[in-house]
Amino acid sequence: TRHVDQRVQARNSALNAFGGVKVDVFVRVRPRLELESGQEECVSVDPEENTLELRDPAGNPATYTYDKVYGPSSSQSDVYDDCVSPIVEQVCRGMNCCIFAYGQTGAGKTFTMRGDLSSNENQHGIIQRSLSHLLRRLHEHEYTDIKVKCSFLEIYNEELEDLFDAKSKPSTRKRSTRTTNNLVLVDDEKRGCVCKGLKEMAVESVPQVMSLLEAAEAKARYSETKMNKLSNRAHRIFTLIVDFKRYEKPVQATLTFVDLAGSEDISKSGATGLTAREASHINKSLLTLGRVINALACNERHIPYRDSKLTRLLSEALGGVCKTSFIACVSPCSGSNTETSSTLRYAERAMEALNISQLPRWKQDEIMIDGLTRRVQQLVDDLES
Ligand code: ADP
Ligand code: MG
Repeated sequence: TRHVDQRVQARNSALNAFGGVKVDVFVRVRPRLELESGQEECVSVDPEENTLELRDPAGNPATYTYDKVYGPSSSQSDVYDDCVSPIVEQVCRGMNCCIFAYGQTGAGKTFTMRGDLSSNENQHGIIQRSLSHLLRRLHEHEYTDIKVKCSFLEIYNEELEDLFDAKSKPSTRKRSTRTTNNLVLVDDEKRGCVCKGLKEMAVESVPQVMSLLEAAEAKARYSETKMNKLSNRAHRIFTLIVDFKRYEKPVQATLTFVDLAGSEDISKSGATGLTAREASHINKSLLTLGRVINALACNERHIPYRDSKLTRLLSEALGGVCKTSFIACVSPCSGSNTETSSTLRYAERAMEALNISQLPRWKQDEIMIDGLTRRVQQLVDDLES
C-alpha cells in the first residue's frame, strides 16, 4: 500500500543519510524436541536467502524475510559469531546495545541467551560468549581502568525483583503499588531510565558470571514455588555494565540481554480474542512492548513507554540511542503453528519499527524539521506559480 511505501522510503532515506544505523531481527528455529515426536515439521529455512517458510495446517506456505535466519542445526557459536559478535564490538566503542529474545515458552529463548549453565563451553549462550569477547577486546584496545559489572532484574506481574539480592523479595500484597524491596525506576540524565537499588556485581571472568547466574536461578526457583508464580510470565533482564577510560576520558556502555516472558498469551489475544479472565492475567509488559513497537512502526508521536515497567526501563533501547536486536525463537513443529505464526509477524513488525527508531531523537527531529521546511517551500512555490 501507499502508506507502507512511504514509510519504507522514509526509512531508507534516513538510513542513507545517517550511515546505516539499523536494528537487526534474527529468527532461530530450534530442533524438534522429544515431546514433539508425533508432530509434522511446518517450518523450513533458507539460510542463504535468510527466508523462512511456514506452512499452515492446510499446507499453504507463507514466506518471511529477516536479517538472518537460523535453522535447527545451527550451533550456539553460529548464532553468536554473526549476530552478536558485531554488537559486542559496538559496546567496546561505547555504544549501548540491547538484545531481546522473543517467542513462546519452550521456543529456545533461554537456551539462546545463556544455554545450559552446567554444560560445556560449546553450549554456552550469548551471555557467556559476549562477556568473554568483551573482556578480551577491551584489553586489546588498551583502554585503562576497565571495570565490568552486571545486574539481573526480574519483572513479574509489574513487580521488580533483584535476582542478585538474596534478601530481596517481591511484594506479596496483590493490589499495592509499593513493593517490599526498595527497587524503583528513575530517570537518570545520563543513562536514561534505570532501576535504582539494583545490585551491580563486579565480574572478571565467565565462570564468575555463571555462578552468579546459577545462584540467581536457584533464588528465582525458590520464590516461584513459594509464590506460585509462573516463570514463563517473568521477564529477565541481565545487564553488563562496562566502564573504561579511553584517552583519559571515562566511557560507560551497557549490553542488555532481555529474556522475555512467553509470547503465547499475545498470540492468543491476536487469534481468538481473550476472555475477561484471561485478559486480566495477560502480561502487561509484553502487551505494552508490542504497542510500543507498533507505535514506532507507525511513526506515532506518542509512544506508550510509561504503560509498563519493561518498556519504561528499556525506552532507550526502543527509540533512543541504542543498538537493538531481536532474536525471535520458534519451534519447527505443527503443534506450535499458531504461536510461530504470531512470533514471525511480531518479528516482521519489529524490523519495520526499529529501523527508524534507531536514530537518535535529535536526528529524528531534524528529519522532521527538514521535511516540514521542504513542504513549506513547496507550498510557497505553488502559490508563486
Ligand atoms: P524458552 O526459554 O523459550 O521457554 P528454552 O530455552 O528453555 O525455551 O528451551 C526449551 C527446551 O528446548 C530446552 O530443553 C532447551 O534445552 C531446548 N532447546 C531450545 N533451543 C535449542 C537448540 N537450538 N538446540 C537444542 N536444544 C534447544
Ligand atoms: Mg526460558
